[in-house]
Parts: sequence; C-alpha cells; structure tokens
Amino acid sequence: MSRVARKEQSARTRKDWERILEGIRGTITYEASLQSYTSFRIGGPAEVLVEPADVDDLCRVVAQAHAERLPIFVVGGTNLLVRDGGIRGLVLSLRQLKAIRQEPGSVLYAEGGVGMPTLIGYAIRRSLAGLEWGAGIPGTVAGCVVMNAGTRLGEMKDSVKAVRMVDPKGRVMDIPAAEIPFSYRKAHLPRGIVAAVWLQLKPGAHDQIEKTVKEYLQYRKITQPLTLPSAGCVFKNPPQDSAGRLVDVAGLKGARVGDAQVSEKHANFMVNLGHARAADVLALIRKVRAGVKKASGVTLELELKVVGQA
Ligand SMILES: Cc1cc2nc3c(=O)[nH]c(=O)nc-3n(C[C@H](O)[C@H](O)[C@H](O)COP(=O)(O)OP(=O)(O)OC[C@H]3O[C@@H](n4cnc5c(N)ncnc54)[C@H](O)[C@@H]3O)c2cc1C
Repeated sequence: MSRVARKEQSARTRKDWERILEGIRGTITYEASLQSYTSFRIGGPAEVLVEPADVDDLCRVVAQAHAERLPIFVVGGTNLLVRDGGIRGLVLSLRQLKAIRQEPGSVLYAEGGVGMPTLIGYAIRRSLAGLEWGAGIPGTVAGCVVMNAGTRLGEMKDSVKAVRMVDPKGRVMDIPAAEIPFSYRKAHLPRGIVAAVWLQLKPGAHDQIEKTVKEYLQYRKITQPLTLPSAGCVFKNPPQDSAGRLVDVAGLKGARVGDAQVSEKHANFMVNLGHARAADVLALIRKVRAGVKKASGVTLELELKVVGQA
C-alpha cells in the first residue's frame, strides 16, 4: 500500500466508518486486536474488523467498500503473520458464515467461515470420504481453497466442485472448479472473496474414514508443535525437496529471535514462545533464509502470508 493511500485511510473518522458501514448487520469492531484472530497470536489491530452476518451482508459490505474505493483484507488467520502496526482499512472475518449442508450426489456445501476440522467432522458423521488428507489443517474452508491447502496425501483442488465468490462490486458469482487453475498452495481465482464452496465427496465406510482421520491427527501430534501458537509451514517446499529438511541441515532447528523460534519438532514451523512480535518472526525468517542459502544454495519462498504495516 502506498504512503498516500495509508495516510488517506487513517484519516477516516468514526463517523465516516459509520456511514460506510451503514446497514451492516454483522459485528463491527474498531481497532480490533488481530492476535485473537490469528493462530500465531501475533500482530497489531485492524482499523475496522467486520464479521458479516451472512452472505447477503458480505455482499453489502463489499459493495459499500467498493463505492468508497476501500481495499478489503480477509482474515482466516492460520497462515498469516500480521505485522505489529496492524492493518489499516477494512478487515473481514467470515466467522459468522458457518452453514454446512449436504446436497444430492455426496456434495457438501460449506460457507467460507466453516473451519476445516468442523467440515471434516460433518463429513465423517455422514460417512463421506475425500477430505481425510486435510485432518488437522485448522484454516477456514475459504482460506483452504484460496491457498489450495494440502498435504502429501491430497489437496483442496481434489475435492472442490465449485466456488461461490463475491466480486469486488459485491455481486455473487459461482465458478465451477474446471474454470479455476490450481497450483502449489494457490488457487488462481478472480478478484473477490470466497463466500462458500461445494465439495465433491464420495460415500465411504464411516469407521474407516474416522480411523484414517484419527491416524493423521495422531501423526501431526507427533511431528508438529501443536501446543504452541504457530502459522503452519513458513516456507514452500522447493521442487523435489522439503523446506524443513533444508532448515534442519542448515543447523537452524531451535534458532531464536526474541520469543520467535524455529520449532525443535518441525523445522518448517516457527512458534511463538509467548510474547513474540511480528518483527521477531520477520528477523528469524531472514536469518533462516540466509542460513539455508549459505548451506544449500536454495532460496526459500514464503508460504506464510505477511500483511499489515510495521
Ligand atoms: C498447526 C497448523 C497446521 C497447518 N497445516 C497445514 C497443512 O498441512 N497444509 C496446508 O496447506 N496448510 C496448513 N496450515 C496453514 C493454513 O491452515 C492453511 O494455509 C489454510 O489454507 C489457511 O486458511 P485461513 O482460513 O486461515 O486463511 P488465512 O491464512 O487467513 O489466509 C490465507 C490467504 O487467503 C486469503 N483469504 C482467506 N480467506 C479468504 C476468503 N474468504 N476470500 C478470499 N481470500 C481469502 C487471505 O487474505 C490470505 O491472503 C497449517 C496451519 C497451522 C497453524
């Protein structure tokens, strides 16, 4: 964001915001702490955080922001590092968009704010297979589509049938998966907000689906630092290699800046030991990238999304 845009945005008064957000039925919070919206528990506040009440409310807030030329950032929160100065302008959380229903042909419709764990629990109860690979991914279903979240066992693109988006003018559009190119940790979607998703699953044996999910969760417990705040994998895996292996080989497991630490358990995770600031995490990222470059000649690319201002 340019300095001019930043200055222009921070010049909005409470009255301006009340006018811009007139008629919005969802929750509106001024200077909302984003620490409680991020799995890293790090970051400054959102100037204004809106949690739309439903998809119509989302359309309305997007249209009204568009009329004011206000940029919008959507926070799911589990692959994000919010800088310490927070995010000026409008931030949306889809926490209130949490409807799920089963449709004919083993299809699940889930609104964007539904968490992957909830969605997987719903699929298990209906004996629907196909999402087991995602057990333990904590993001929202919308964030998982945008990121094409995945593991070595599967990716979001394997199950997405269609995506309901709200375009920058606040209009709903449904896009079939066939029209969405997916790549490693990215869905190439048109500009806008993912409001809901249709997932194509298949009938399965309840006990087998549940068993597989439990096994994957257990594997994560053993291999990932789940008792400390983190944002999942920090770096993308380079082709044919693993970022964690490269960090480990560079001798950086356990490296620390302030309360930010490269996990001892999984070298591609950074954890917040208590009071880490975004600046600490960013300094640690620089240190790890430099160390890996020196040890292996590889430049690691960020998977983590870094947003906001210092
Ligand atoms: C313990 C742990 C384990 C994890 N394991 C995995 C794993 O195995 N595999 C994996 O891929 N990831 C993993 N992650 C990372 C994370 O859960 C995924 O990347 C997930 O897809 C992020 O979803 P989110 O809703 O939190 O989105 P965020 O992280 O908040 O956002 C990611 C990006 O998507 C955008 N976005 C979010 N919602 C919307 C929306 N509705 N419309 C438009 N844009 C949107 C954001 O603006 C941002 O640019 C893990 C994270 C943790 C903390």
